[in-house]
Amino acid sequence: MRNLQNASHRRFNPLTGDWVLVSPHRERRPWQGQMEKPHEAPALAYDPNCYLCAGNPRANGARNPQYKGVYAFDNDFSALTPGLSCEAVDEGGLLVAQSEAGICRVLCFSERHDLALARMETSQIEKVVAAWTQEYETLGALDFVDYVQIFENRGAAMGASNPHPHGQIWATRSLPNEVAKETSRQADYLARKGSCLLCDYLALEETHRERIVCANEHFVALVPFWATWPFETLLLPRRHLGSLADFREGEAPALADILRRLTLRYDNLFETAFPYSMGFHQKPTDGRAHESWHFHAHFYPPLLRSASVRKFMVGFEMLGSPQRDLTPESAATRLRAAPENHYLDRGAT
Ligand SMILES: [Zn+2]
Ligand SMILES: [Zn+2]
Ligand SMILES: [Zn+2]
Repeated sequence: MRNLQNASHRRFNPLTGDWVLVSPHRERRPWQGQMEKPHEAPALAYDPNCYLCAGNPRANGARNPQYKGVYAFDNDFSALTPGLSCEAVDEGGLLVAQSEAGICRVLCFSERHDLALARMETSQIEKVVAAWTQEYETLGALDFVDYVQIFENRGAAMGASNPHPHGQIWATRSLPNEVAKETSRQADYLARKGSCLLCDYLALEETHRERIVCANEHFVALVPFWATWPFETLLLPRRHLGSLADFREGEAPALADILRRLTLRYDNLFETAFPYSMGFHQKPTDGRAHESWHFHAHFYPPLLRSASVRKFMVGFEMLGSPQRDLTPESAATRLRAAPENHYLDRGAT
């Protein structure tokens, strides 16, 4: 196929087995749909009404300590509870349910209400990486926890209820859908080819280079060939490793560096507090080796052509396959061109 930049086609996601429809010729169509409210960064370093700011009361009556840097606690409105017995329902394979135990934690990235990963120092983000690692190890060591999902929802457009920089950690007894798909597809690939799916994919992307956004000694951020969201990215370690717990000297600071530089580009793309859902996929904590697992992060941002126009996954996408107009190659070109100093920190000087 020669015409990936002009003719409609579909692309295969080897991590999930799903397809995405790409329609580059539709990129110029006029927009008369919903306009988003501005995604403004919070102006105050401390907000007396924020339930995540240091020293403030939370909804359940607890009070946050006067923390500096990172602060983790159990979610006051947890979606999961620990210590449930294993019960199951199965009526003819049609009415099927299982009890699900788990723990939901909240991790504040900074005591500063007005910061985001994009505006934090690399050394501050390193503390966040250290906290993620500790949560993964501690929760993953629990008998009933087979998987630890670390994620961040940023911005009201992605359902974040509070602008204070924070993420969540959900530890579950079973593998969530996306992780189950990636686990079996990576294992299949290793069995068929004798090598790692994402190691091979990264090597291929480094020969093409057209989808790479930024990189450092240990990590590469790229728009995956099969990206669904307009400015979706995939963050990959250069070395084959399964989880945050496998990091060696130099890799945690390198992850902090690439997270800062990628989120900076996102904010600068439309000069807005760029909304996204991001999270790490890593090997399950069920005690098995999972040699095929290659640690990575996904960023799924909803914005499409400006700070006020977002993508909706509706119609054909709900009923058929996801679809995109902007090609992953054009998205990567635009993210590569975005500056690496934050628009809010430029100006007078
Ligand atoms: Zn706050
Ligand atoms: Zn690998
Ligand atoms: Zn993944």
